[in-house]
Amino acid sequence: MTTNLRPEEVLDLDVLKRLTVIRGRLRNETPLRVGIGREGRLGSTSDITVIRTKSLWGEEVPYIPGSSLKGVFRSFVEQLARSGGLQVHDPWDFEAMEREERGGFCVVCALFGSTRVASHVRIYDAFPPEGKVPTIVYKTGVGIDRDFLGAKPNILYTEEFVEPGNEWEFRMDVINVPFPDGEDPRTRYLKELLDSLKTMGLQVGARKSVGMGLVKLVGGTYEVYAVEGGSVSKVSEGTI
Ligand SMILES: [Zn+2]
Repeated sequence: MTTNLRPEEVLDLDVLKRLTVIRGRLRNETPLRVGIGREGRLGSTSDITVIRTKSLWGEEVPYIPGSSLKGVFRSFVEQLARSGGLQVHDPWDFEAMEREERGGFCVVCALFGSTRVASHVRIYDAFPPEGKVPTIVYKTGVGIDRDFLGAKPNILYTEEFVEPGNEWEFRMDVINVPFPDGEDPRTRYLKELLDSLKTMGLQVGARKSVGMGLVKLVGGTYEVYAVEGGSVSKVSEGTI
């Protein structure tokens, strides 16, 4: 089954017609770590640290990169599409992406982009609300000896996690895709994605198999702007 979008429906980012701004807060319900690999920060007492950057108010804070959120959203929409009987290629299947330029774009590429089409969504880095530095918890793990595949109790390491209950400012822009209503197949997937983020949550970052990194959208809102004849006007708004 295929419901590919025609190239002319998707290769439309040279003109801004419609912009939907989605805002809210993400709350992590379980410990969260979006990391920078298996190496501690300089001067850190922990071996596996959360990613941090300088906040607007100058302090170093953990944050959730927009690219991490986008990856999670994309694979969730892939799963939704597959469960609906659509054939979805892997994100690294460059041949499939090339074919789409002629045969029409799959709903996933038409929303999140590919090597052949720019993304119709823009997801911003999610920072803690101003002045609220998330609390960090440390867990000590036991290293695995790779040669003998057994636990070696004398190899210990510490991992940082952001404590559950912290919040992150969320913003996502959707360009030239109808929202919240419309015949475009992307609209339905976008709504499903946001509803799922609100009700069941989605997992971001490390240790997903043990339930970590579960984030939920709270207080979600949308504002839709139409661009016509060189001017911008708000056409609708609501809550998610
Ligand atoms: Zn595709």
